[in-house]
Amino acid sequence: MIIDILTIFPGYFESPLKESLLGKAIEKSILTIRVHNIRDYATDRHKTVDDRPFGGGAGMVMKLEPLVNALESLQQEEPQGFVVLLTPQGRLFNQRTARDWSNKKRLILICGRYEGIDDRISHFINEEISIGDYILSGGEAAALVVIDAISRLIPGVVGNKESVDTESFELGLLEYPQFTRPRVFRGIKVPDVLLSGNHQAIKQWRFHQAILRTKKRRPDLFKKLPPDIKKGFNSLEGTRNIE
Ligand code: SAM
Repeated sequence: MIIDILTIFPGYFESPLKESLLGKAIEKSILTIRVHNIRDYATDRHKTVDDRPFGGGAGMVMKLEPLVNALESLQQEEPQGFVVLLTPQGRLFNQRTARDWSNKKRLILICGRYEGIDDRISHFINEEISIGDYILSGGEAAALVVIDAISRLIPGVVGNKESVDTESFELGLLEYPQFTRPRVFRGIKVPDVLLSGNHQAIKQWRFHQAILRTKKRRPDLFKKLPPDIKKGFNSLEGTRNIE
């Protein structure tokens, strides 16, 4: 997969793209990430990327010309990129979108700064995405979140596929709780079942915990669970009804 990032702060990405799973995926060429400075596509002498807002008001607005020049230049290459603008006004990013985009051959991510980008950018992009209901100083941190979430779903990036498939949100559930050594820490014990060696009992306990945890912590997700998952839980619980 290829990801092109458009930013006025290319240095922002230097360290995160070298570390951990992302760094390894790039090293192994499973993922190619290219960072482009929007300023390089400005045509005036001062390489201007922002200007004052029409109608007045606070702050500066990112200009269209450098961005559209950059997009048109990048889209001359094959495969065509799916163009995403990071903005707090976009559709909320989630695991389903990460899964969907992990199958794309090429993504182009646009990082805004200042008060945002001239709204006519909407004519040149495929989707506007927000990573949450809060305001960041720029789209760079949001682009990294999106890249991280997508990349771990590309085959070969995370060594153990099972660990990705059972993570929170994949089945519409939060993941079950995890524990490691020591068995007792300051009097707090690990659940006995996990030390039992009974794989069937462990599997059931984890499923049970994932549902209980989702119900308690994320009632919004719990409500959306398919009936067969709730039915599976009820049959484990005997007569108790999770609804
Ligand atoms: N004035 C804008 C507004 O109220 O909608 C916010 C601009 S913000 C300071 C600058 C840039 O940060 C945005 O253009 C966008 O690229 C990025 N950004 C900020 N919050 C974001 C979020 N929650 N998700 C994705 N991108 C975000």
